[in-house]
Amino acid sequence: MNICVLGTGYVGLVTGAIFAELGNEVICVDKIAKKIEMLINGKMPIYEPGLEELVTRNHNEGRLEFITDLKSAIERSEIIFICVNTPSMENGETDLSYVKNAAKEIALAMNGYKIIVNKSTVPVGTGDMVRDIIMEFRPNNEKFDVVSNPEFLREGSAINDALNPDRIIIGASTKQVAFRLLELYASLEAPMLITDVYSAEVIKYASNAFLATKISFINAIANLCEKVGADVGDVAKGMGRDHRISKDFLNPGLGFGGSCFPKDVKSLVHTSSKMGYEFDLLKHVMEINEDRAQHFVNLIKSRFPDIKGKTFAVLGLSFKPNTDDMREAKSIEIINLLIKEGAILRVFDPIAMESAKKILPDVTYCSSAYEACEGAHAFILSTEWREFKQLNMERIKGTMKSPVIFDGRNIYDPDRKKRMGFEYYCMGRGKWLKPS
Ligand code: NAD
Repeated sequence: MNICVLGTGYVGLVTGAIFAELGNEVICVDKIAKKIEMLINGKMPIYEPGLEELVTRNHNEGRLEFITDLKSAIERSEIIFICVNTPSMENGETDLSYVKNAAKEIALAMNGYKIIVNKSTVPVGTGDMVRDIIMEFRPNNEKFDVVSNPEFLREGSAINDALNPDRIIIGASTKQVAFRLLELYASLEAPMLITDVYSAEVIKYASNAFLATKISFINAIANLCEKVGADVGDVAKGMGRDHRISKDFLNPGLGFGGSCFPKDVKSLVHTSSKMGYEFDLLKHVMEINEDRAQHFVNLIKSRFPDIKGKTFAVLGLSFKPNTDDMREAKSIEIINLLIKEGAILRVFDPIAMESAKKILPDVTYCSSAYEACEGAHAFILSTEWREFKQLNMERIKGTMKSPVIFDGRNIYDPDRKKRMGFEYYCMGRGKWLKPS
């Protein structure tokens, strides 16, 4: 099939590369000329494991094209995927300006029947909005269908997720157009659900909001565990063995960040309120999440009441491991709170340092976790990159001013760290809160 993917970000680029891999002719379009130029030259504008190889192979074999000329891409395509950004506005509402622009540009370039598929995460009713824009701007009453096909891939494992999805959701107004889209996905052999456009739009938000709720729930339990001396790790394990609950997304720590959960939860709260339903449950989910960084900094302050002039190493900056994405990363909140208190920060991340430099100018960037820890009063684990689990702790201890760890993701074994001579602080493991 001839496919156009609008927007070559985390979702668009992976989607385009996967469809090319499945044997389709794909044209990826972005309005940022620099991104397209990089891609043509085989350079990835984002970090995603396995992406470079997949993109390069399909580009070299002629199935994956990168251009800025949206008109020619639309003219040559039957199915157009909208994968543009949908950021949050101040009031939590989703900023749909990129989707609106994309719809208008598609309409103006139409030269025949097109299937316009919304893969961006958009509030319920956006499909109608896209349809109205196309009707207004199409030049010659060309026929078209608007479909909702939300994306569930996760940064850091995006390619595997896109090739092995838990489900494919197709929200379409007719079975005929839904089946055309299903053909595109047929070789993935994933469970598929055909529904109406509204339901597909809600499924995406409901899924993300539910996962965010699980994270805030276990963090609220972590708060209780700290008060009563229980261990949230054991509690999560005990809960997770119940298959109705499952162990996934029951990791206590600094809470959720990234480009999706925070904005999607806010958006669902906003949409619900607009429709006359106050989604108080999700408001609390956000409140619990927003408190995590301050809660963690309070823990640091309980050990170092006078933070001013103290040096801390921060290990991990990206919002989660295996990505360079710094959007809504918890490290930003923690670092800014500590800087406000006068701390000196030495930071390291295996991949995200270039992205971080644009957001966090007042820290010292180090070339390794070891360098970051040199002379530090404590190290702070803020993103659970695998390599931080494998650090030579004896070497680290030898160069620190004091051997103190604040583990924001509970990745270390408290007993072992204590035996090694570290003071170890973590989240929600009450009995380790005040190391003797
Ligand atoms: P992104 O910011 O990484 O990429 C969006 C791209 O769209 C940018 O490169 C931008 O230049 C381009 N763009 C915007 N308007 C355009 C236009 N009119 N023509 C051509 N290009 C245009 O965003 P992302 O992380 O890929 O997310 C895209 C959408 O997918 C969002 O709605 C997001 O919520 C959703 N989503 C994201 C993820 C994720 O893990 N990042 C997962 C599932 C769903």
